[in-house]
Amino acid sequence: AIPAPTIDFAAVIRTIPDYPKPGIMFRDVTSLLADPAAFRAAVDAMVAPYAEMGVAMVAGIEARGFILGGAISHQLAAGFVPIRKKGKLPLATIRVAYSLEYGVDEMEVHRDALTPGTRVLITDDLIATGGTAEAAVKLLRELGAEIVGACFVVDLPEVGGRQKLEALGVPVKALVAYQ
Ligand code: AMP
Repeated sequence: AIPAPTIDFAAVIRTIPDYPKPGIMFRDVTSLLADPAAFRAAVDAMVAPYAEMGVAMVAGIEARGFILGGAISHQLAAGFVPIRKKGKLPLATIRVAYSLEYGVDEMEVHRDALTPGTRVLITDDLIATGGTAEAAVKLLRELGAEIVGACFVVDLPEVGGRQKLEALGVPVKALVAYQ
């Protein structure tokens, strides 16, 4: 077989200093998503560890987690469940407050999104403090999900999100780490 080209993911992610507020180095994955080879390779690399893990559902975190999660769920032949900011889902939800690198908000999921015991993979573009992903873990576990892992394009290890999730028993994978 012809080996897949190696992609330098960090080279196709842009960094915008001081967005959305001073001191934040915003890692913009829209440039990766816009690059056909990079987007495909990123999704392939995110999916690979879970190919034999019996993932039945991918939970994507609004909003960039929806883009990755749609592609990942397709490749894993899994379903997709959106974890949304409050007020966006039409039926009965459960809700959890969370803090992120630059603010506080609430997220929710439909109460009927999963049956207990469903094996779920969480995804988003980036993990920083892990507050957002932790909120997703809480919501999904409240519904009885068995969380197989959480995968991201970018990890910011200095902010501690990976450790926070792993302390909750959720193994974390990411394609790129920035100090
Ligand atoms: P956290 O809850 O601190 O792990 O933050 C993760 C969430 O906030 C993800 O949904 C990211 O899209 C977004 N985010 C946080 N920090 C950054 C950053 N430096 N660059 C881009 N997105 C970020």
